[in-house]
Amino acid sequence: MKQFLDFKEDIHKCSKCGLCQAECPIYKITGNDCSVSRGIFIMLQGVINGELRMSKTINRYLDLCLKCGACSKFCPSGIDIVDIIISAKHEYLKQSLLEKIKSFVQKYLIFGFIPNFINIFTQKIKSKNFEHKVIYFGGCGNKLKGNKSTVKILNSIGIEVLTPTFNCCGVPYLTRGDICEFKKSIKNFIKIIKKYNINEIITTCASCEKTLKDYSKWCDEDDKKILDSLVFKNIYEYLREKKVVFELKTKKSITYHKPCNIGNFDDILWLLNNTKNLQYIEMNDYDKCCGLNGIAKFKEYKIMCNIFKSKINNIKKTNTKIVTTSCLGCEIALKSYSLRNYKVLDLIDFISNNI
Ligand code: SF4
Ligand code: SF4
Repeated sequence: MKQFLDFKEDIHKCSKCGLCQAECPIYKITGNDCSVSRGIFIMLQGVINGELRMSKTINRYLDLCLKCGACSKFCPSGIDIVDIIISAKHEYLKQSLLEKIKSFVQKYLIFGFIPNFINIFTQKIKSKNFEHKVIYFGGCGNKLKGNKSTVKILNSIGIEVLTPTFNCCGVPYLTRGDICEFKKSIKNFIKIIKKYNINEIITTCASCEKTLKDYSKWCDEDDKKILDSLVFKNIYEYLREKKVVFELKTKKSITYHKPCNIGNFDDILWLLNNTKNLQYIEMNDYDKCCGLNGIAKFKEYKIMCNIFKSKINNIKKTNTKIVTTSCLGCEIALKSYSLRNYKVLDLIDFISNNI
């Protein structure tokens, strides 16, 4: 696993061209260079050179970054900012008592007590038996819904869905820089997956998908071999490969917000454009980040409200009352916009409820 100092060369590659500013949703609101990759890299370079220390102020900018990766897609030096930010967060966590306390609360209360509570009170839907079997990693949100929609959809095309009781994929630990807890999430996943002789893992949440695909970057060699033998696919890729065409019971119009972490948007577009009785209305900036950044959303409320406002305007312009997405985090953010008379839901839930 790469440590903060292992990213020295990547940080040094930044040419300070500033092209990232045009893509960064936070920079567009703050106009502050410290809140975009260029400024963050200048600060981190200072830390590496020993001119700055990893302080609360630097940590604030690390938290403010949405980890949407939009800047990396246009960076001429090809720098992947998200992994650098995570390693820098990890560095800060090691030295900050307050961050350690927050991690403790996150570990035992938010991701210890709540998921166990969910496991007790949710009833998993039972899959029909078929010859072709896949494992479904629904993530915390779908676990709460009993994994119903995915089981229904995949059963309707003759696929059996196994739904082991996985813990959280660990993305909240990763974004806080708590690599130690994140590695435990990987271990837990491997321990469960080893019990099955199935290598196809289906996801519906974009953040879970990205995190599972990234597991091999952070794990040890033995676990990497197991992970390399697995095939991670989101359900959209799977349905498109099988050319599945659904028909809604009645005509509906929807719009769609693209999560930053989704693999291939073309697979989702294929479903949106090939489902009968479905009218897909593209919203402006459908691919711009929803603004959910667990910590910053509360700490930097004013900044996040600006992102929310522009998303709300774009949703309203579509003249549809149903907003779909494919990530629990985005679903929570869109619901928190308090869009009266609008229905916000996961695209797979929408399809499953209407076929
Ligand atoms: S686009 Fe890339 S190289 Fe240019 S300033 Fe931003 S991070 Fe640096
Ligand atoms: S990852 Fe997103 S929020 Fe962070 S600096 Fe890049 S564009 Fe801005």
